[in-house]
Amino acid sequence: MNFGYREVCLDHDTGPRHPESPDRLRAVRRALKDRHGVEYVAANDADTDLVRSVHDSDYIDEFRAFCDDGGGNWDADTVAVEATWSAALASAGTAVWAAEAALGGLDGRDTPFGLGRPPGHHAVEDDAMGFCFINNVAVAAQAALEREADRVAVFDWDVHHGNGTQDIFYDRGDVFYASIHEDGLYPGTGGIEETGAGDGEGTTLNVKYEPGADTTDYLAAIDDCIAPAIADYDPDLLLISAGFDAHEHDPISRMRVTTEGYGAMTQRMRTLADDCGAGLGFVLEGGYGLDTLADSITTVHEVFDGYEPVIADGEVDEDARTVLDELAAQGFGSK
Ligand SMILES: [Zn+2]
Repeated sequence: MNFGYREVCLDHDTGPRHPESPDRLRAVRRALKDRHGVEYVAANDADTDLVRSVHDSDYIDEFRAFCDDGGGNWDADTVAVEATWSAALASAGTAVWAAEAALGGLDGRDTPFGLGRPPGHHAVEDDAMGFCFINNVAVAAQAALEREADRVAVFDWDVHHGNGTQDIFYDRGDVFYASIHEDGLYPGTGGIEETGAGDGEGTTLNVKYEPGADTTDYLAAIDDCIAPAIADYDPDLLLISAGFDAHEHDPISRMRVTTEGYGAMTQRMRTLADDCGAGLGFVLEGGYGLDTLADSITTVHEVFDGYEPVIADGEVDEDARTVLDELAAQGFGSK
């Protein structure tokens, strides 16, 4: 794969005990070091006018001034230092690069993956939250729409609901947002009844699973619900909000997706993008076990290098099936 990466993203220093640390990117880069076919691309900063097209301009001014003053705690767990502004623009820039590269035809072994931090999917139009300041995937989707895409789909497999991405596009029909997330976790949004509004009615799809959902349950959500809905939507670009905190060994969730499971989800997304004739790009979100994050991203990479993940047959959990049946009743999924 081609990985968008900038050293400045390491300068966003969240302190010694914060799970969203620069060591995350260091671990990923270490794991990718000896792998075949890994290319790095230093993407440009995101254009601030583009950032302001999905965020409130006053909020962006406030965020910049906060960093210029040396940063601090924006809220209890969203921390900035002076360099966070530069890191956030670079992080959003790697996401924009991933979107534009995918739209421009980079695929197969060259599929783009933006490895930026801070992450983005919790950042709402006018506020930072949940470790996120600029909504990277939203800026990337907007960039694609301003370029040549008519419709963009975002699939968010981070264990948390991407409330920011959902909010930004909730009443717009040009971005389809789908997420699988764990019930009871931060920020508490993403109920299955949240399906969009106005022009965006039917373009938000939330699979909210009970804690403990595993690879089988995730693949069922994709096969029975998310992939058919996105295929119906027929996007020009499919962006993956790729967090790896639903991993069975991630320290902050109770989901049980395996490393191979991320490979299998990657295969599904590649097939889906091909079926839609859409570009496919990945944007890093969360993932807080350093080894599991590194191994999972390596597996995503290997899938584009020909690796076939092995998934044992399993039964879909009863609670998970209930969620998928309710979504089918709302018109999402295979008929
Ligand atoms: Zn997360």
